[in-house]
Amino acid sequence: MLAHSGVGQAQEPRDRVQQAVPSDPALRVKALESLLVEKGMVNPATLDAIIETYETKVGPRNGARVVAHAWVDPAFKKRLLSDGTAAIAELGYGGSQGEHMVVLENSAKVHNLVVCTLCSCYPWPVLGLPPTWYKSAPYRSRAVIDPRGVLREFGLQLPDDVEVRVWDSTADVRYLVLPERPAGTEAMTEDQLAALVTRDSMVGVAKVTVAAGGTA
Ligand code: FE
Repeated sequence: MLAHSGVGQAQEPRDRVQQAVPSDPALRVKALESLLVEKGMVNPATLDAIIETYETKVGPRNGARVVAHAWVDPAFKKRLLSDGTAAIAELGYGGSQGEHMVVLENSAKVHNLVVCTLCSCYPWPVLGLPPTWYKSAPYRSRAVIDPRGVLREFGLQLPDDVEVRVWDSTADVRYLVLPERPAGTEAMTEDQLAALVTRDSMVGVAKVTVAAGGTA
C-alpha cells in the first residue's frame, strides 16, 4: 500500500521513522482532527461523544431486537424484508450509515453473507461499529472469492445444497442478515430470543444457536 516502497530505492531516514509510528490512516485521521479542532470547526468533546455512542450505546443488541421481533411477528418480518429501513425505524433505529437498509433472510436453503470489498461499509444503527476482521483485507477479498472457505474458518460448515449469496455493501446500501430462528425456541419470549442473536449471525458468518445464548 505504501506508494514509496519501491524495491532497490535508497530508504531515506524519514521512511524508516514511519515504520515505528501509527498506521497511515490513523495518522491522517489524527491530523484531520487536529486541524478541524484548531480551526474551531469541531469540538473534541463532541467527537468523543459520537465515538462513545457508537462504541457503547449503538450496537448489535439493536439488530438482535429487530431479528427477534421479525421471528415473533410475521407481519413485521414481511415489512422488514420489503422495506428494511422503514421497518427498522418502527423499532426506533436509524440514522447515519443506515439510511438505506436491505434485510436478507437466511433459510435452510439460502445463506447470505455480507462484506464490503471496497472498505468497511456497515449498518451502524443496528450493528454498531464493524469488528476488525470485517475491515481486514483478507476478509474483504476472500469473502467474495471463497465464501464457503471463509465461513468454515468462522466455524460454519454449510451443506453443499445450501446456496451462498455474498452481498457487497456500498456507500448507499447497508445489509442486515435475518438469521434462521433456531429449532427448540418456540416457547421463548422475544427478549429471550434477542439474547440468542449474535452480531456475527447478522453479518452472515454464523448461525444463531440456542447454546450460544445459554437461556434454554
Ligand atoms: Fe465500505
